[in-house]
Amino acid sequence: METFPKPGAPPHPMQFPIQKTAEQWQALLQAKQAELPAFAVTRHAATERPFTGKYEQHWAPGQYHCICCDAPLFVSDTKFDAGCGWPSFSQALPGAITEVADHSHGMRRVETLCSQCGAHLGHVFPDGPAPTGLRYCMNSAALHFSEPEAGAHT
Ligand SMILES: [Zn+2]
Repeated sequence: METFPKPGAPPHPMQFPIQKTAEQWQALLQAKQAELPAFAVTRHAATERPFTGKYEQHWAPGQYHCICCDAPLFVSDTKFDAGCGWPSFSQALPGAITEVADHSHGMRRVETLCSQCGAHLGHVFPDGPAPTGLRYCMNSAALHFSEPEAGAHT
């Protein structure tokens, strides 16, 4: 009885609470008028071109959600300008993100996935600011921003 996944197994064998087919995600993202790379980024782990995302230089107070399932991922307080061309955050909301080792492209990186729907969001690097020392390097197209609601609890 084998207990380890075989080489060549799908990269993300874990099951996420929200499951949809590729066609369903594509239709959903189109209906939301998501940015063009959103489907390729979130469902095929593509990386948008740097300095092209609408949230790269976006500093309004609020929350950033998963473009696919609307799960809250980051608050604007933790966003910082890393100068790398992608929206960067020093901290994710607790439990919002699932981290997976990624050895693609000959690099050792840590991939970040939405814990609810498994959307690829970007990578996390250990070169961020204090106190976390982390840099969540996100694809703008994988995010959806919402302003704080009037009267909402904080
Ligand atoms: Zn999600």
